[in-house]
Amino acid sequence: MSTLAEYEVTCAVCGEKSRQTGLGSSSTDGGTDLDGRPAPSLRYTMQYWLQECPNCGYIERNITLPANKTAAKLKQCYQPFDELTDAPLAARFAKYACYLSHEGNSPDACDHFLYAAWVYDDMKKATRARTMRRFALDFAHDLASSVLKSQRCRYVLLKADLLRRMGRFAAVLEMNEKDDALDERDRWQLIFEKELALLADEAAHSIEEHPKLLSKMEVPPCPHLWK
Ligand SMILES: [Zn+2]
Repeated sequence: MSTLAEYEVTCAVCGEKSRQTGLGSSSTDGGTDLDGRPAPSLRYTMQYWLQECPNCGYIERNITLPANKTAAKLKQCYQPFDELTDAPLAARFAKYACYLSHEGNSPDACDHFLYAAWVYDDMKKATRARTMRRFALDFAHDLASSVLKSQRCRYVLLKADLLRRMGRFAAVLEMNEKDDALDERDRWQLIFEKELALLADEAAHSIEEHPKLLSKMEVPPCPHLWK
């Protein structure tokens, strides 16, 4: 059960007031997919993860927070994703991802391109979902080589899933399950990805499908609770 609340906010970029819906709390009733995609009950809240100013288009978790760019620069940053008119929510995530990328925040940029892919997954628009995964992969690929072990683990596993979902099975099979960033459970997840890649399986799969993965099943808390 998720709780929502409406607020009037003033955009930090243009000064216009608007009503925004914030997520007070959220919960989910199922496990995640291999890429962390939550169960439908939590996916429903994705439309509240980011706010968008209806006047200037500024996108942030909370648009009362100042931007590091002028309105004109933000527009320029968002422009490549204006064409995503078939899915305004995916466009919002992709635009914010692009902004985060300009800010040098690769982990969050990666995650927000992934969220855009999830929107297209739910719409059954495979080509668009694949395009969003390709953007996410650019970041995941670099982050998977990170010197920080804790960061590397998440992105090694995410990279494997992104590649498989994009049909790049040979690249998944080349990945090293002996990477020292992976603990035993993570190793099983990478092996599971490889088994699926061998079957040329591009579909979403849940962690719950594999008994070895259940021991550390984590449902990530919604990252965008209203503050
Ligand atoms: Zn604004």
